[in-house]
Amino acid sequence: MVIDVDRIPKDGLSVSRDFEFLNVDLVEEDTVFLSPAHAEAIVRKVGDEIWIKGRLTARLSFVCSRCLSPYEFPVDSTFDLVYLPEELDLMKDELEEDDLGQVFYRDNQVDLGEIILEQLNLTFPLKPLCAESCEGICAVCGKVRRNGDCSCEVKEEDPRLLKLKYFVRDKS
Ligand SMILES: [Zn+2]
Ligand SMILES: [Zn+2]
Repeated sequence: MVIDVDRIPKDGLSVSRDFEFLNVDLVEEDTVFLSPAHAEAIVRKVGDEIWIKGRLTARLSFVCSRCLSPYEFPVDSTFDLVYLPEELDLMKDELEEDDLGQVFYRDNQVDLGEIILEQLNLTFPLKPLCAESCEGICAVCGKVRRNGDCSCEVKEEDPRLLKLKYFVRDKS
């Protein structure tokens, strides 16, 4: 959804809509949308700056990186962004370091879809986990180690120690 900066009304432009994204555009490609990404936003032009404030909601399904089970990940985040015209970008060498976090728009347009996608990706966990305490998959029986499903005793082997063990064996 590309917004022409010159057409933003004086009171701002209110947007309330669903956005469809492709999995390849997401930082977590195994994501399934249980409900589409929905954004409510108000886009304002203040001088040369574009102010975008709003809220993003979605219901996603991730795959836990430890137990490989799908789990629901609700997104409900707010954003408050300021975009500067790109011309200023040319002067960025002269700006103070604090200002380098600024974002720019070009050709008198802002792509709201792209902005929402970026905000959505920012909510993603670095490592998806169904629960902080997820114990993953049992190395003995292959079951998910949850709710006492498995009672195998797993000895934690440190891979470095394992290497040492083989090393010692080779010597003998
Ligand atoms: Zn898990
Ligand atoms: Zn087990």
